[in-house]
Amino acid sequence: MISQPRGRKLSREEAERVPHVVARPKARYAWSAGPATGRFLEELKEGRVLARRCNGCGRVLVPPRMFCERCFRPTDEWVYLPGTGTIQTYSISYIDTDANRIAKPILVGVLAFDGASEGCGIMHYFGEVAPEKLYIGMEVEPVWKPQAEREGAITDIKYFRPRRKEDRQ
Ligand SMILES: [Zn+2]
Repeated sequence: MISQPRGRKLSREEAERVPHVVARPKARYAWSAGPATGRFLEELKEGRVLARRCNGCGRVLVPPRMFCERCFRPTDEWVYLPGTGTIQTYSISYIDTDANRIAKPILVGVLAFDGASEGCGIMHYFGEVAPEKLYIGMEVEPVWKPQAEREGAITDIKYFRPRRKEDRQ
């Protein structure tokens, strides 16, 4: 049997006798995404998808990495990808990110960028497509935010839409 800790709530007077410190530190900090992800995010602002090639195994990694964990050596060069891709998995969600039920579903899934190696899928939204039209293997293209609204985040791409106009809604 687990013993329960014994105790009682302190009175206000007792609580004030407990030594304590009142401090409001100005905790300002900066955070670096690192050379590979940092440049990847900067390039997104320009509407470009950047990857990194490893000449050891020939893989093209996106998001880029400066070190190949397969070859155990630094990667070699930057590679721009066209930004298009193929849907690998998807989900039709009738629940939003705050767990509210919604009528118009959120379409989300994993896509493989064209020109990137297997296993480099990224998760993103799909749009301009009816849920029942989505399929694994669908070719998609990015829909970028207007340049002035981009901030160096993967969400600078609003969503991916079908490349074939006939599949668009
Ligand atoms: Zn490698």
